[in-house]
Amino acid sequence: MGIAVPKEVDPGEPRVGATPDTVKKLIALGASVTVAAGAGLASGITDADYREAGAAIAPSNTEALQGAAIVLKVRRPAAEELVAYPAGALVLAIMDPYGQQEALEVVARAGVAAFAMELMPRITRAQVMDVLSSQANLAGYRAVVDAAAEFGRAFPMMMTAAGTVPAAKVFVMGAGVAGLQAIATARRLGAIVTATDVRPAAKEQVASLGAKFVAVEDEEFRQAETAAGYAKPMSAEYQAKQAALVAEHIRKQDVVITTALIPGRPAPHLVSSAMVESLKPGSVLVDLAVERGGNVEGARAGEVVTTANGVKIIGYLNVPGRLAASASSLYARNLLAFVETLVDKKEKVLAPNWEDELVKATLLTRDGAIVHPMFQLQVG
Ligand code: NAD
Repeated sequence: MGIAVPKEVDPGEPRVGATPDTVKKLIALGASVTVAAGAGLASGITDADYREAGAAIAPSNTEALQGAAIVLKVRRPAAEELVAYPAGALVLAIMDPYGQQEALEVVARAGVAAFAMELMPRITRAQVMDVLSSQANLAGYRAVVDAAAEFGRAFPMMMTAAGTVPAAKVFVMGAGVAGLQAIATARRLGAIVTATDVRPAAKEQVASLGAKFVAVEDEEFRQAETAAGYAKPMSAEYQAKQAALVAEHIRKQDVVITTALIPGRPAPHLVSSAMVESLKPGSVLVDLAVERGGNVEGARAGEVVTTANGVKIIGYLNVPGRLAASASSLYARNLLAFVETLVDKKEKVLAPNWEDELVKATLLTRDGAIVHPMFQLQVG
């Protein structure tokens, strides 16, 4: 059972799919692990660290992939990479499948079994494999750290002989995994924190972290959570009410962190240019949804924009990657936990159960075709 750990080819991707810790555990499962030279460097892991854990180091991705039964990736492999992937290999990655039909067909044609880790069901058994949570948690933390770095004032209230520095007011929009960690981090830094979400379950979670919940709590709000625990797209009417409430609240804030997402859809627009203009000069917005179209008008992917009224809008890409060592360590654990379900531990051989609910929920392609019902082309 050969497991390959290629080096990510996207220059914006410093994470890696295995760590020395998970390599040891994969070997204990009966695997032989081959890591491409330099694959872990951007996450602070050297080839020597991997070697010490029992992995072989291959000089290139092509060589690492030779004979691999499982490939542990971060991003969906592109056509150029797939040339080196053995047909039939199980490829685990964050596949970013929504609206990517052509790219999925390329993956299918390569004959690999591609698993989209972000489609892992949010059930107790799969919590340890939840890449969305492991990465969003770090992104939420980093969003606050990035905001603090750009903000020209202190976060905590400070009473000094030279006068008092007021505590920063931080508003977190979207109180899911990232938002809740942003709230906790901002609170630890001493900020006064408020937060909003459209899911009623968020209200209690926000309060339990010591932040104040701000939202339009009407009948639609009470119904706004899907069975899977995600937000639903809200009606135009609700959005208008929400915008009015947010407009009133936001102009008093120093820092706004937006994390609002709806799986498979563009991010909801929550902060208009007029709201950005209403902020005081020196205020900072962080848009964690920028990769999915953005929550903040004027946010630009990969950039820190300074508006005419002196407000900074941070739109960093791959925010978990800004904490690559932590992100890789958690991501690699998520992958390991899933690999464990694909292996016959007694016989120490690869034995995926194609009927298992975790496999069915995440498997995108197999034997040359797209097999996931959500992504199969509609015929007729
Ligand atoms: P997400 O990344 O899809 O969305 C982030 C947040 O944005 C969500 O809280 C969502 O409700 C919110 N949002 C969407 N539209 C909005 C709008 N118009 N205005 C304000 N907020 C908006 O979600 P997520 O962080 O991955 O998780 C969603 C929920 O699922 C959370 O409560 C989380 O705790 C829960 N969860 C459960 C498990 C589990 O194993 N049971 C695992 C992970 C997360």
